[in-house]
Amino acid sequence: TYVIALPCVDLMDKACLDECPVECIYEGDRMLYVQPDECIDCGACEPVCPVEAIFYEDDLPAEWSQFTAVNAGFFAGV
Ligand code: SF4
Repeated sequence: TYVIALPCVDLMDKACLDECPVECIYEGDRMLYVQPDECIDCGACEPVCPVEAIFYEDDLPAEWSQFTAVNAGFFAGV
């Protein structure tokens, strides 16, 4: 799955929303989140993010590794 990380917080440009073919990017209060069970790993969202907040999960910078759980947790109601 792809994961949205720290640069999205309080920015929420939303360019990615128009690119996702399965509409699996959702709006929270302070950032956008990828629904990991719905993401088809197409990669379309990654290049359109103006702040490079989106990564394939295995490519997340180490300092943002917790964002895999942050994205999934949003949908778990955590
Ligand atoms: Fe949507 Fe594709 Fe990005 Fe997954 S990788 S969130 S399916 S645009």
